Parts: sequence; structure tokens; C-alpha cells
Amino acid sequence: MAAARFALLITPAESTDEERADFSDSFRRIDPGAPALSVGELSTQRGDGIFESIGVVDGHAQEVEAHVQRLAHSAALCELPEPHREQWRQAVAIAAAECGPGEWVIKLILSRGVDHGPAPTAWVTAAPAGDFAAARADGIRVVTLDRGYDSGAAERSPWLLLGAKTLSYAVNMAALREAHRRGADDAIFVTTDGVVLEAPTASLILRFGDRFVTPAPHGGILQGTTQISLFAHLEEQGFTTEYATVPTADLATADQAWLVSSVRLAAPIAAIDDAPLAIDHAFTDGLNAYLLSARD
Ligand code: PLP
Repeated sequence: MAAARFALLITPAESTDEERADFSDSFRRIDPGAPALSVGELSTQRGDGIFESIGVVDGHAQEVEAHVQRLAHSAALCELPEPHREQWRQAVAIAAAECGPGEWVIKLILSRGVDHGPAPTAWVTAAPAGDFAAARADGIRVVTLDRGYDSGAAERSPWLLLGAKTLSYAVNMAALREAHRRGADDAIFVTTDGVVLEAPTASLILRFGDRFVTPAPHGGILQGTTQISLFAHLEEQGFTTEYATVPTADLATADQAWLVSSVRLAAPIAAIDDAPLAIDHAFTDGLNAYLLSARD
């Protein structure tokens, strides 16, 4: 992703304020290249906050509602004040109007704010997206990486915040570096008891014949907006979709597989742990054409 070209600071409104229809005076446009946060910010000191990345295609922000709802879900898991959904929708609309042609990314960030401060800190940015043409067309090689906990961890230890999209992505970035060290492009996390989870920044979809399967989002993984959207699209085409507990061994029996996410979209998997996997280029092109069409 390129540097942000647009940034908007948000004074978060109370979620209970149902009367208010116009939030323009709660937004302050700032220079995206200039310092903006206090050194006491808990987002930067502890990664204590949540975020969303929304794909934008030719000025149309994709699946805004799903992202705003997931922001609210993450806020609830992290015990942050409930976001005022309409305020965030309006902030996204302002940011989308600043995006030029082609693919961009809008980020929503809600931090716990400054230690002992009055309120959370919130902002939105817009930046041109990276170029993912090669990943979409040629595919990506992935390795499985042990996530270090078993499939009961999310339920047993809710303080791990496993289903929340928190700003603490240092582990996710370390996993990507490990994948690169092993000669791969990306990773698939698996639990210590052999259950497939997700990638560090994407969801996994496996194809078995005409059945499409994704690991069930039982709290151990983030449910992807792209996966949900693709499942609806696949069902419309007559395919079967399924949320399942996927044993690691099943990765070897899939006919095809993709990592899917809001900005890179559908990246077909060319190999898992060096075992080659077939890529259906025409089918994958169809998935990405759908993901690039205006979606609400
Ligand atoms: N899982 C993780 C851990 C992610 O970080 C992401 C996206 O960033 C996803 C899944 C895919 O989510 P989405 O499709 O909403 O981008």
C-alpha cells in the first residue's frame, strides 16, 4: 500500500445518539504526512485498538456495511466504546470521494486513545492500493505455520481477542516474514491440534468438486467480509458453500484453494508446503471480476 493521500480525524459520537443525522462537524481533515497523534496514544504504545481495511474500486467503497459491522464487533470484544455506525459510514463516504480511479484502500482506525484521556481516538485514511495483478493471475505459494494454540483457545481464553481485528498485527507480520524465509509468499495458520485457521491477513477458501469450504469462524479467526461476499456469489451460481472444522490433512485433498481479502482479493494458491495445487485461471478471473464489481 502506498502512503496515505487523505486523512480524517474523527471525534467519536456516542452510539446512543440516534437523533443526529449529520456528523460533518465531528470530522477534521488533516495532512496525512504530518504528525497527528499524541505520544501517549495507546494504539502506538500497545497496539490497543481496532481497524478495518476497505477496498475501493473507481471511487466505490466495497461492502461498507460489513466492515462497519465488523468494526463494531471488534469494539465489543475489546470493550471499546460502541462506534456510531452512521458516523463511520459518513467518514467512509468522504474518504471514498477522495480516492482516484483504480484500486484504493480506506482504513478505519479506532484506538483506546490516550492513557487516562477523555475519549478514544479515531481516524480514517485513504491510499492507493498495491498492485496485486501477479498474485491474482499467477497465484501464491503458501506454507502452513503453527499458530501456537489449540482449537479451544478462543473459547477458553477470550482475552486473546482472537475474533477481533486489533491493531496488534506484529505476530501476523512475523508470520509473513517466516513464510518468505521459507520461500513462500504467504502462510496458513494451523492450531496445535491440527485444525486449519486462516492466513495472517486473509481468509482461506478450499474447493472440493463443486463444494467450497472455509474454516468455521468460531472465534479463533476473523470472519472475512470477502469470504462472505464470495460465498453469496458462489451460491448464486449454484455451488455449495460450507463452514467447517478443517483438519490440516484436508489441505492436501483440495482441488483448488484461494486466500481472499478486501484489497488483494482472490489470490489462487499454487502450492501448499511445496505440494503443487492446480489453478483454474478462468474461474479465478471470474471471482476477481465479481470482487472488482461495485458491491454493497
Ligand atoms: N483474516 C485476517 C487475520 C485478516 O487480517 C483479514 C483481512 O485483513 C482477513 C481474514 C480477511 O478479511 P476481509 O475479507 O474482510 O478483508
